Amino acid sequence: VCVDEVIERVLSGDRGLLPDAAAADMDEERVSQQAGRIRAFLKVQDGCDYACTFCRTTQVRGPSRSKSVAAIIDEAKRLVANGYPEVVLTGINLAQFAPPDGNLASLSEGLLRIDGLRRLRLASINPYGIDEDLVSVFPGDDRACPHFHIPLQSGDDSVLRVMARGYSREFYLSRVELIKRMIPQATFGADIIVGFPGESDAAFQNTLSLIKLVGFANLHLFRYSPRVGTIAADARDQVPEAVKRERAEQVERVYRRCQQDLLSSYIGKTVSVLLEEKTRDGWRGYTREYIDAHVHTSIAQVPGDEIAVRVTGVGEGFLLGDEK
Ligand code: SF4
Repeated sequence: VCVDEVIERVLSGDRGLLPDAAAADMDEERVSQQAGRIRAFLKVQDGCDYACTFCRTTQVRGPSRSKSVAAIIDEAKRLVANGYPEVVLTGINLAQFAPPDGNLASLSEGLLRIDGLRRLRLASINPYGIDEDLVSVFPGDDRACPHFHIPLQSGDDSVLRVMARGYSREFYLSRVELIKRMIPQATFGADIIVGFPGESDAAFQNTLSLIKLVGFANLHLFRYSPRVGTIAADARDQVPEAVKRERAEQVERVYRRCQQDLLSSYIGKTVSVLLEEKTRDGWRGYTREYIDAHVHTSIAQVPGDEIAVRVTGVGEGFLLGDEK
């Protein structure tokens, strides 16, 4: 199948054009990546059944498929035995994780029964993958890290519809509210695209207002750039580059203000930091809420130590604190 044909067939609604990859049994895959000796990324799902109009993933990676819960737990046990204190569950579209023997909630519960696992995180998960069952796993166990990276892309319903994202602004906010209600200390991250074709000033303002409402701890911001072979690339109402730049700057300003407010709210509190790397005057690591923390400590430590830290101040995008 040539590339042009793949694109044409996908755009006409045909999905999963890479039968070999699509049919591959994920249980046979060992695709975990590691970040240093702290965080192991365990891929539990591949492919995607959605067809967002800016994305080529479905064309390239085929339909969604999931590793079985049994195989994942087996793999996680080996990662933990090899010294990784933190496991991050990843997927191309983690919200579509649908193994034959469970779901994301039961998988998380199973993983939390592994001796030696100290932190469990979900990587990016689309809003339709978040339900009460899944969220209820988190308050019961400190090791389940209360940080949710939920791709947003736009805070405006008309843009979300044209993107074919499969959720509305209201639904997105309902997921955030559900999490905040069940896990008050939860923090949030998101991906946002500015300057998507047809994004009006009013639509962009809806994105800005949603950023303020959620108060993200981290944000991946993209200026829309067309991908050949996608529907959005051929849209006539492309947004001028200068407007995209201006909108990106506005998002950055609003996000940084919200982030600093969030970080300042930790001053005087105690957080748990998993140490990752030594710095000139201490250590650097992440809190359970996935906030970057710079820690002063006079006690000898090694990467992977988890210590209680009293937050004394904030830097640009990170916490400052002393070991308690
Ligand atoms: S953006 Fe994500 S959900 Fe949408 S088609 Fe691409 S991989 Fe799937």
